[in-house]
Amino acid sequence: MKALKEIDISRQLKAFFKGSFQVNKPLCGYTSIKIGGMAAVFLEPENNIDLALAVKFLNSFEMPFRVIGNGTNLLINNGRLEIAVIKLSGLFFKEISVKEDVLYMRGGVSLPHLLNFSIKNGISGFEFLAGIPGTSGGALIMNAGIRNPFQPAITAAPYLSISDSLIELEIMDARGKIFRLNKNDAGFVYRGSKLKGIIVVGAYFKVKNKAKGQVAERIKSFLEKRRISQEMRVRSAGCVFKNPMGENISAGALIERSKLKGRCIGQARVSDIHANFIVNRGNATFSQVRELMDLVREKVKQDSGIKLETEVEIWNKR
Ligand SMILES: Cc1cc2nc3c(=O)[nH]c(=O)nc-3n(C[C@H](O)[C@H](O)[C@H](O)COP(=O)(O)OP(=O)(O)OC[C@H]3O[C@@H](n4cnc5c(N)ncnc54)[C@H](O)[C@@H]3O)c2cc1C
Repeated sequence: MKALKEIDISRQLKAFFKGSFQVNKPLCGYTSIKIGGMAAVFLEPENNIDLALAVKFLNSFEMPFRVIGNGTNLLINNGRLEIAVIKLSGLFFKEISVKEDVLYMRGGVSLPHLLNFSIKNGISGFEFLAGIPGTSGGALIMNAGIRNPFQPAITAAPYLSISDSLIELEIMDARGKIFRLNKNDAGFVYRGSKLKGIIVVGAYFKVKNKAKGQVAERIKSFLEKRRISQEMRVRSAGCVFKNPMGENISAGALIERSKLKGRCIGQARVSDIHANFIVNRGNATFSQVRELMDLVREKVKQDSGIKLETEVEIWNKR
């Protein structure tokens, strides 16, 4: 990264950037687990033009950047991170529109907002996302979804994921250029994609029209299932580990079997309700959560022979 003084960043950004920005921005308030150090610069562009200018500016200084959605799948190191963080928080990035059976949404739409829109407009296809607190961009990068609660019906897929009804993505590359990417070229897998180093600025989905009441009912039933199995109002980053592929057991069940529910390191605790959640009970640090994750992984490996893979994304200091 080229040497760039804070004062230079501010002066240069002020000259062209329409959105808001801040140097040395603490990120803990932008993650659901409420842990995270300082970003060198935090940018909230107004629209795609502003975003492209910001990306080009950061590139000209070789300053790496990352996009943050609602920070609900992130564990960020305490201390200063030598990166810029971009958040698509402007109204422009929250637009959703629908034409016949195709829904378009931009990259900063919160999933609860998408579900409200679906109810109001009688749109079916996203109900299973109820209770997932992320944004469209973050959900697509992670290929967010759930284990299908209607399994083992013969026709049911084992997982329901946001990419199931996706047609095409609209992405911005690291040079600030926007282009479309077919779903098949995005490399979606269980809880992931090969969409690294790009910004999701929009996405097109094939949807079904249904009665508003029916959509609302389905959302309610997904939420009820979630309420039974999850702590909804705690500081967490959701599931810490992926469900092991090819095994007929979830990561949560493996952790529970290893009797790790309630295990603490400092203020970090394995949830008593959903064993695959690590909860920040107050002022948990990045290191405490990492240590607890290592402990869980080792104990599960010892007891079951299964190596758990991390689902939360870790942002370390460079
Ligand atoms: C209580 C709780 C319950 C949860 N339940 C589920 C669940 O059932 N299923 C599930 O799959 N997940 C679940 N999660 C995890 C999380 O909500 C999802 O992974 C969500 O999709 C992440 O979205 P986000 O906007 O918060 O992304 P972030 O956590 O902010 O970011 C995740 C990744 O996406 C990238 N990113 C974000 N926006 C963009 C963009 N516009 N362009 C490019 N990259 C981007 C980030 O750089 C990062 O790599 C849960 C989390 C919590 C806290």
